Amino acid sequence: MSKPLAKQLADLQDYTTQCTRCPRLVDWRQDVARTKRKQFMDDDYWGKPVPAWGDPSAELVIIGLAPAAHGANRTGRMFTGDRSGDWLYRALHKAGFANQPTSTGKDDGLVLQNCWISAAARCAPPLNKLTADELANCRSYLAEEIPLLPKAKVILCLGGVALTALWNTLKHHDTLRAHVLGADVALPKKPAFGHGILTPLSQQFTLALSYHPSQQNTFTKRLTEPMFDKLFTDINAHLRQRV
Ligand code: SF4
Repeated sequence: MSKPLAKQLADLQDYTTQCTRCPRLVDWRQDVARTKRKQFMDDDYWGKPVPAWGDPSAELVIIGLAPAAHGANRTGRMFTGDRSGDWLYRALHKAGFANQPTSTGKDDGLVLQNCWISAAARCAPPLNKLTADELANCRSYLAEEIPLLPKAKVILCLGGVALTALWNTLKHHDTLRAHVLGADVALPKKPAFGHGILTPLSQQFTLALSYHPSQQNTFTKRLTEPMFDKLFTDINAHLRQRV
């Protein structure tokens, strides 16, 4: 008898944390964890691949880029302990996907509701830049993960890299493509990236796109708080329509 999906999902996350497929990222994540940043000198850095996390019954699946060196690579939880996370969890809380607006560490009491947070790559890259090979190495985790979320309906990509990663994963993993698009459905051309767009992919799945809440986007006001909030309001409205 096969294991329940929630157990398979948890096992996949455990397995991921041992991954050493990308030598450059293994060196970097460990090096950052050793040298640390002055303000976090007393912290025990995680320094390993960061597992995806959230509600296994989630309808909303968020795909970010990769852990930040002194954020998730320090705390061990996606988008936790950095400015991008401040933006993301504040918006998720306002929209009812999180029980609190802040995410500071694994034991901070944060619970995600109807939301799962994953990433294009699970190790922090130098200068926040991943190589094509590294993204390809990490695809199989996303490909295995999405079918283990039985209620997933909306896949939200934060940024163009996440969208490309999702599209390449659909392209290279037949089982995932059949799961998301339907059996024998060819992969359409990758949609043009734009903030706030919701596009149906199949009867079950809808793609949502947002600028990544990185400081590069938030400081320049390319992404504002009302823009981000509206996206989650739209996602909620979309999910309610489908009930
Ligand atoms: S980025 Fe992904 S594939 Fe590469 S070492 Fe980390 S977990 Fe493994």
